[in-house]
Amino acid sequence: MGDDPASRVYVNNKKKACEFVGFKSEEFALPADTTQDELLKLVDELNNRKDINGILCQLPLPKGLDENAVIEAISPIKDVDAFHKQNVGRIMIGDYDFLPCTPAGIMEMLHDYKINVDGKNCVVIGRSNIVGKPMAMLLLHENATVTICHSHTKNLKEIASGADVLVAAVGKAKFVTEDMVKENAVVIDVGMNRDEKGKLCGDVDFENVKDKCSFITPVPGGVGPMTIATLMKNTLKAAKLQNGID
Ligand code: NAP
Repeated sequence: MGDDPASRVYVNNKKKACEFVGFKSEEFALPADTTQDELLKLVDELNNRKDINGILCQLPLPKGLDENAVIEAISPIKDVDAFHKQNVGRIMIGDYDFLPCTPAGIMEMLHDYKINVDGKNCVVIGRSNIVGKPMAMLLLHENATVTICHSHTKNLKEIASGADVLVAAVGKAKFVTEDMVKENAVVIDVGMNRDEKGKLCGDVDFENVKDKCSFITPVPGGVGPMTIATLMKNTLKAAKLQNGID
């Protein structure tokens, strides 16, 4: 909704991924002055369409619209972002159909690189509903000892530098500096920011941190593509669930 330039990029990337895997996607680019009722009516129509298996509402919404109401209006079985409170609750108890795309993409990446978090000290910087909190939960499900840091955390540098796995989801360019990273740590950079030259960059000072850690995800090209891949995976699962396919 509206004309947020970052949202435009994200939506285009998601559409391209759908094309790549062979899904049909439909975009409803609504003007910023669309009312809450109009938006909810559209969600209701999509909930009722048999040929639509997954629905996502690209956030943030323009001011004055209630994001939570829109998320709650999406049928939980079509909620491929896994933001609906029914899906969030199911993640807490470890009995879920969908996982939120960014944390699930990160876990998949850790599995693929055979990085086992069992018993490891994992620190997540950020506690948003879409990244930080579910990230911490997924690490906990795999037996990590998890610390969540946020803007009120007092001794952030000390906590971060004790991490075997450090996940930065802050939204501040080059926030994680070399002195916040333990030797040989695994560093996952979720951030998508613009530096002083307008270039895309993460939350981690990549150039100065990369030689200190054992693994590090670049921005762009790290967590972002995994997020989109998970969205495709969730959509396939939604289609299977809705059609009784195992
Ligand atoms: P968000 O909702 O703005 O949350 C940011 C978190 O960082 C908050 O919990 C905030 O703490 C914490 N924080 C801010 N300043 C801090 C400080 N000085 N010290 C410690 N913690 C601090 O952001 P988000 O939606 O989680 O996204 C985070 C970043 O990831 C953004 O750059 C976003 O663009 C990016 N992102 C990337 C992907 C991807 O696919 N790659 C997906 C989603 C998001 P409080 O809670 O105390 O305010």
